Amino acid sequence: MDPRTAQIAANLAAVRERIAAACRAAGREPESVTLVAITKTYPADDVARLVELGVRDVGENRDQEAAPKAAAVPDVRWHFVGQLQRNKARSVVTYADVVHSVDSLRLVDALTDAVVRSGRETPLGALVQVSLDDDERRGGAVTGAVEKVAEAIAASPALRLLGVMAVAPVDWAPDDAFARLAAISGRIKQRFTGPDGTPDWISAGMSGDLESAILHGSTHVRVGSALLGKRTPLG
Ligand SMILES: *Cc1c(COP(=O)(O)O)cnc(C)c1O
Repeated sequence: MDPRTAQIAANLAAVRERIAAACRAAGREPESVTLVAITKTYPADDVARLVELGVRDVGENRDQEAAPKAAAVPDVRWHFVGQLQRNKARSVVTYADVVHSVDSLRLVDALTDAVVRSGRETPLGALVQVSLDDDERRGGAVTGAVEKVAEAIAASPALRLLGVMAVAPVDWAPDDAFARLAAISGRIKQRFTGPDGTPDWISAGMSGDLESAILHGSTHVRVGSALLGKRTPLG
């Protein structure tokens, strides 16, 4: 094993142990939480190392970076987790299995149109990104818009509503943020359970706050720096 692979393997074991411990504390099965490795700013070689180590879900937040990495490492589920400009929708739908950051009706339309034009055969998974503090600048639908965006996704022939996603606002206690997201998830599940299933994904928790997210029901933790190392400020 090359030194970089060994380092990532040790980090991955530590993250998996954190997830397992948080599940034990919450009375949950470790299999109920999926680790999505966020590989932004790190090279495709690191994605390949993660895959070799058993990771099956990988995420990126910018199309320019994601598209070439997805082409280099195709045999995983690719998650798009960043703010998405509508003009990037056509690219993203060619490689992404799930977009976590759907936060407007216009983006639902752009993604629907992109999937239809692409000839893609399976629907694109979509999560409503929620702005927990109603500050739209960092992405996410404000409280009053969440159900409208969910409704549009559910009505789209090209998208499949899977659940909700959020990033804890920096100045909030993670427990407050993730408890609020859990309540929103409960309403979305109740309203949108149908023939396609229950939109029960809660995409929440990152390197610094995954324990709190798991305690509040997160099903998908998005972990970057704890696996691959601290990024430069730009990332
Ligand atoms: C970068 C990023 C993450 C991972 O953050 P870490 O603190 O490095 O674990 C998770 N979610 C989103 C949306 C991100 O942009």
